[in-house]
Amino acid sequence: MDYPNHALSLREWLDHLQRTERLAVAKPGLSLRHEIAGIANRMDGRKATLFPKAGGMSTVVSGIVSDRNWMAEALGIAPGELVSRFGKASAEPVAWKEVSKAPCQEVVHRDVDILKQMPVPTHNEHDSGAYITAGILVSRDPESGIQNVTIHRCQISGPNRIGVLLLPRHTHHYYRKAEKAGKPLEIAIAIGVEPACLLASQAIVPIDHDELEIAGALKGAPLDVVKCVTNDVRIPADAEIVLEGRILPKTREPEGPFGEFPQYYGERAERHVIEIDAITHRRDPLFHTIVGGGLEHLLLGAIPREATILAAMRASFPDVKDVHLALGGVGRYHLYVKLDKTQEGQGKNVLLAAFAAHYDIKHAVVVDMDVDIHNPREVEWAVATRFQADRDLVVISDSQGSKLDPSTDGGVGAKMGLDATIPLHSPEMKYKRIRVPGEENIDLDAVLDPQARVTF
Ligand code: MN
Repeated sequence: MDYPNHALSLREWLDHLQRTERLAVAKPGLSLRHEIAGIANRMDGRKATLFPKAGGMSTVVSGIVSDRNWMAEALGIAPGELVSRFGKASAEPVAWKEVSKAPCQEVVHRDVDILKQMPVPTHNEHDSGAYITAGILVSRDPESGIQNVTIHRCQISGPNRIGVLLLPRHTHHYYRKAEKAGKPLEIAIAIGVEPACLLASQAIVPIDHDELEIAGALKGAPLDVVKCVTNDVRIPADAEIVLEGRILPKTREPEGPFGEFPQYYGERAERHVIEIDAITHRRDPLFHTIVGGGLEHLLLGAIPREATILAAMRASFPDVKDVHLALGGVGRYHLYVKLDKTQEGQGKNVLLAAFAAHYDIKHAVVVDMDVDIHNPREVEWAVATRFQADRDLVVISDSQGSKLDPSTDGGVGAKMGLDATIPLHSPEMKYKRIRVPGEENIDLDAVLDPQARVTF
């Protein structure tokens, strides 16, 4: 089967999924309220979904990168190299290239009525309403003009009004600068962007690193961007739909609840407000939606974090060879670490480095080189057979964790580390893993007879 040798555009990737039987196309005109999310969830991780004339409007797609290997494939990267390539792209960004004519501006609406102009679905049972969930929000530092790119959940609150959750990170920092000057912060929300942009938007890099340059590095070529029609923000020229607007100063309105990645609802609260000035789009735009808590949501967060966490841990412990944020830990809370152990006690130091690498990490397990950290059953086996709780367990109380973990006290909670590595100087046979010699080299087609029938 043909494996891409370069990063694909959104439409190239959807075409590739279709040709390889991984795109499920729904009947036209399904409901935006719960029906699309329900079908996308049922197909999650098996096939991407495409909904023609969703809600009687244009096409919706979902689950387009709901598998770790698909993510690599969409970028033309070998599956095992995704994290290392992402780390390299974050460290060596490639500047974007500005173009004057862009597909995302084929149609321009200056009279904005979001829900009449695009098919925005409502996903989970108690969501407050329709949300844009796969739009990359691009903002500009009002002083330096440097851009920031990330995904925020966007509640449609009125014809040209969006309620947005800004965590205290980079968009919020730019916003505070603008608000102090009594000004709105110019932004744009690009929906239907290529996989490289989606993944790059989730990079954990310092402020004033334009994530669109990481997308360029992932692609191995500058990303084409275009200036918005109503402000100075530069957006991916190939996007399907763009909402241009401003985060209003000194304005807060209710947003939420909304079904989030830990499979619980983010609460309703007073949050920031975006006013939309224009909507631009392609002639037949595709609206991408990410269903909260689905594999696409978890993986988009997990893979860039793995790259950052691995780099941070290796700075102190070069013997750390790989890390994995397990899906059962919602791609954020459970970290598995592969260690080429050289010193006794090293496992526990490595656990402390894991908790220091990102505050979301709640439970960490360190294992030896022979354990496949991408297979939860293998990690559980290592804990079952190499770990003793009174000797190998580390617990740290009252530390900073995830506010979206409902078992914490407002984000303050405990860390648990499990050192499941074997002691360095164990007798050889004590921890020797059993194996059948030659098992992996047997050609099953040569030795099994599919026609054979036995009478019992
Ligand atoms: Mn940033």
